[in-house]
Amino acid sequence: YESLSVAELAKKLHREPSEIIKKLFMLGVMATINQELDKDAIELICADYGVEVEEEIRIDKTDLDTYFDDTIVEVDENALEERPPVVTIMGHVDHGKTSLLDSIRKTKVTAGEAGGITQHIGAYQVEVNGKKISFLDTPGHAAFTTMRARGASITDIAIIVVAADDGVMPQTVEAINHAKAAEVPIIVAINKMDKPSANPDRVQQELTEHGLVPEAWGGDTIFVPISALKGEGIDQLLEMILLVSEVGELKANPTRSAIGTVIEAQLDKGRGAVATLLVQDGTLRVGDPIVVGHAYGRVRAMVNDLGRRIKTAGPSMPIEITGLNEVPQAGDRFVVFQDEKTARQVGESRSMTAIQASRSEKQRVTLDNLFEQM
Ligand code: GDP
Ligand code: MG
Repeated sequence: YESLSVAELAKKLHREPSEIIKKLFMLGVMATINQELDKDAIELICADYGVEVEEEIRIDKTDLDTYFDDTIVEVDENALEERPPVVTIMGHVDHGKTSLLDSIRKTKVTAGEAGGITQHIGAYQVEVNGKKISFLDTPGHAAFTTMRARGASITDIAIIVVAADDGVMPQTVEAINHAKAAEVPIIVAINKMDKPSANPDRVQQELTEHGLVPEAWGGDTIFVPISALKGEGIDQLLEMILLVSEVGELKANPTRSAIGTVIEAQLDKGRGAVATLLVQDGTLRVGDPIVVGHAYGRVRAMVNDLGRRIKTAGPSMPIEITGLNEVPQAGDRFVVFQDEKTARQVGESRSMTAIQASRSEKQRVTLDNLFEQM
């Protein structure tokens, strides 16, 4: 084996880095989390845990999650810059999620672009007071359930839409639970305020029972009354998003190579595999060798939410790419590699593992079926 950092060794041993640092200290070695340990130090620590060091200890390069783990990937604090928030809109059916997304887009797409523009991909970005906000157009629940089931968290802020004439409904509660489980800050948009039967007080009362207490009542949840239909309250809502985003101090390093998550993907007759990606860190470039889930390739072409061809995409930007050998799945991670050879090796190794896993899955399912028939 070569050298390992304290963090890498901790991960290998399934221990907290602080525990390793403490042990090293007892052995008379002062170490920090990113410090590289030599062979002797690694052996000492491993012996202490009763683990024998036999072969090369290496990080599993085919595990894409590794690249998202900042105890392994060294974070360059100096290169961090503010990044736009990624917002998901959730709520009960017919409470106005789609209308709100449409309304935000209409309000914020610059005059010259409005009208002829049809949204191209399942996500978009708007600019408010010189700051960008990314909105995911996937049905909020799907975004949380499929993505989270795959361990991907892509949302920074959840907007929960509640119709003022209807109040809290089952999917409202579900949405709150998803956002809470993901530890994502919630902003409540009380929609359909234009309706004569609107009763925002009742909505606030009901949400309080679910732990969302308005600031006016001594809580810390932001409530914004809106009418998606009339475009009222949209600016206030956007300002609140920026406020919550600032509190969260969202940062990324635009200088590193890109990592992120698949929002949606499909096979296009003419263009082959087409994937909408959210860049979560780094900058994605046309030509980059990339592994996306079990697929791999080179970014052949890249378009933004308006369908315009672009060459680079920075943190929090949703884009659509072509150039993959197969169609990935929503929630899959993507990682850019320095060279195409590594990308291909990692991609091939991942799809082999996937084939094996699906074979054993099939066998398992067959057994289950047997039991079902009994
Ligand atoms: P979704 O199922 O949550 O995406 O809800 P939609 O956006 O499709 O809206 C459901 C219905 O409510 C549609 O008929 C909308 O026109 C209507 N709607 C949405 N927002 C408003 C609003 O602010 N005021 C009124 N009066 N109707 C609205
Ligand atoms: Mg809808």
